[in-house]
Amino acid sequence: MRRPSPTGRPAGGRPPRPRAEQAEQLGFEGMPERLFVCTPSKLGAYADCPRRYRYAYVDRPAPPKGPPWAHNSLGASVHTALKNWYASAPDRRRPEVLGTLLKGTWVREGYRDDEQERDAFRRALAWLESYVAGLDPADEPVGVERVVAVKTAVLAFNGRTDRIDSRPGPDGRPELVIVDYKTGRTGLDADDARGSQALALYAYAAERVFRKPCRRVELHHLPTGTVAAHEHTPESLHRQLSRAEDTARDIMAAERAVADGADPDAAFPTEPGPRCGWCDYRRTCPTGAQTPGKEPWSAVDRLAEPVGDAD
Ligand code: SF4
Repeated sequence: MRRPSPTGRPAGGRPPRPRAEQAEQLGFEGMPERLFVCTPSKLGAYADCPRRYRYAYVDRPAPPKGPPWAHNSLGASVHTALKNWYASAPDRRRPEVLGTLLKGTWVREGYRDDEQERDAFRRALAWLESYVAGLDPADEPVGVERVVAVKTAVLAFNGRTDRIDSRPGPDGRPELVIVDYKTGRTGLDADDARGSQALALYAYAAERVFRKPCRRVELHHLPTGTVAAHEHTPESLHRQLSRAEDTARDIMAAERAVADGADPDAAFPTEPGPRCGWCDYRRTCPTGAQTPGKEPWSAVDRLAEPVGDAD
């Protein structure tokens, strides 16, 4: 009688099949679905408008985007200045260095003219000065612009956090806090922090990357100096995660349908709304083209208006 080989295959049986062939066969035998590689912006793009998602992530070559937005330039400049503030030695983290830091990171694109750009610079510098006045220069965050990543049964998620702090939790042991800077016109409240899928996914991922509890998420609105915070529970984080997984499944189903011959316009429908005016793909999108577009500097113009004015 032939003895079984240590691998369980009969000795002298057929030679092993090439790896590619095995993988193909496994695919038919219930190999797990491929993971959906995503960031918060990718998930958010689909949730906002499937067609915008398609233009940004599916169509190749991608359709041309509109011109750069001044409010994005302003946000990026402020974020990078804060990143560099933390990259400086603690004894150099003083308000006087902020002007130099901001100049070094200033993005000029999208402004109407030099006067508007100068005004935005002054405004941003004032935000930063008042913000760092409330920070302890000796504090070292656990991460600044740190990428956190996690895999689930459906997602391979990665995202860049603005800041991850470590602070004592209710029992005195250190817990992580996700901090996200905001530079838009209006302030934010606890509902914005609670409802933010991006913040919840960052917290979920950070908890696993650093092996420490991470339940608190905070939106730091620099123009008003306010902080909107929410304390997640394991259940609320899982709820947000499961919503993100549902979105990922919808995206994969739409992509599969197109690969199988479905009409891409039907698989990725438009979701028209006020956001069309701000959409990078408004000129490409048949629905968006009917909406008047905003000027690249409109949102920065509105920073000067009193909050509460109609859109
Ligand atoms: S213009 Fe509006 S409908 Fe068209 S892709 Fe952009 S957000 Fe969607």
